[in-house]
Parts: sequence; C-alpha cells; structure tokens
Amino acid sequence: MHVILLGPPGAGTGTQGTILAQRLGVPKITTGDLLRDAIQKDNLLGRDAKRFMDRGELVPDKIILSLIKQQLVSPEAAKGIVMDSFPRTVRQAEAVNVMLMEQGERLKRVLLLDVPEEELVRRLLSRSAAEGRGDDTSELIQRRLHAYRESTAPLVGYYREMGILTIVSGTGTEEEITKRIEEVLGT
Ligand code: AMP
Repeated sequence: MHVILLGPPGAGTGTQGTILAQRLGVPKITTGDLLRDAIQKDNLLGRDAKRFMDRGELVPDKIILSLIKQQLVSPEAAKGIVMDSFPRTVRQAEAVNVMLMEQGERLKRVLLLDVPEEELVRRLLSRSAAEGRGDDTSELIQRRLHAYRESTAPLVGYYREMGILTIVSGTGTEEEITKRIEEVLGT
C-alpha cells in the first residue's frame, strides 16, 4: 500500500508515519531525515541541501528527486511505502506518480494531517527546545510555514482532484490520531 502523509511542519507526519509503516510492514521515506543524513556525511548533496534548509526554504526538486529515486524503486518498496514530508511540491508529486506508474503501482491514499497554526508553532518551539534542532527557531519556523503555504499546500488541491485525499484531524493524543488514520485506510 502506497500512502502519503501530508501536513505542515509540526503536524506529526513523522510520528504517525513511523507507526503506520510498522503496522503495514513497509518502509517509510522521510526526505527530511535523508537530507540530515547527507549533511552529517558531508557529501556533495548534503552540502547543497544545507544552504536551503538553513534558510527555512525547500530544497530544490532536482536534489530531492535524485535522493528518493533509488528508494522508490527498491525491492523493499514493492509492497508499499509510507511517504512522510515528501512530496512537498507539485513537481515532486508528479514525479512520484510517474515512478509508481512505471512499476505498475499507484497511490492508495493521501492523508492530510490538519493542525491549527498556533498549535504547530507551539509544537515546533517545544521540539526545538527538546531536540536542539537548528531549523526550529522562531524565525525559521515562520519561513518553513511560509514555504509550506506557498509550495506544499497546493498539493491538497492536486490530490483532491485525483480523488485520493482525506483530511484527518492531527490534534489529540498520538493514539487518537493513529486510530483516525487506521479508520481511513481500513487497516
Ligand atoms: P522536515 O524534517 O520534514 O521538517 O524538513 C526539514 C527541511 O528539509 C525542510 O525545511 C526543507 O528545507 C527540507 N526538506 C525536507 N523534505 C523536503 C522535500 N520533500 N522537498 C524539499 N525540501 C525538503
């Protein structure tokens, strides 16, 4: 089952994506983690991506697509994938559709985790304090939310038109949100 968890920074797609991937027994693709990994390794791709991440901007599609291509077509992904924090632009979404089609697969569902903006900011600031994540300072949070509204929010309309979008409330306890997702997917 190929599923996308869509949502603004702080919506909880990472946590819920991990739970869902385990439940389905499929890998999870998290481009944010892959990028942080590349930065840690200090390879060319990591160095390129860091400039954008430090500014709270999206990393260009070309970099992201080269990063995920291998993962999408790997044998482990044949049964399905949970995609978290990816795709984040319509161009990335189109590329996913094409890559899946080439393998005779298609997206089963896109779940949008809906969380009010004040709550997102509160969560991101407390995560910043707890994990010391450099991209969660107040100013960067605003820029990342701006990038979401500009580039990622249009995906909502894109997937609605495909007829595979479901909006799920992302507030409440972790268990409550997991239950809502499972209900939608019938898992
Ligand atoms: P995240 O961990 O998902 O909050 O992502 C952290 C940062 O990584 C974002 O602010 C972006 O700069 C970058 N990033 C992660 N995933 C993507 C993506 N699919 N497309 C573009 N940029 C991304």
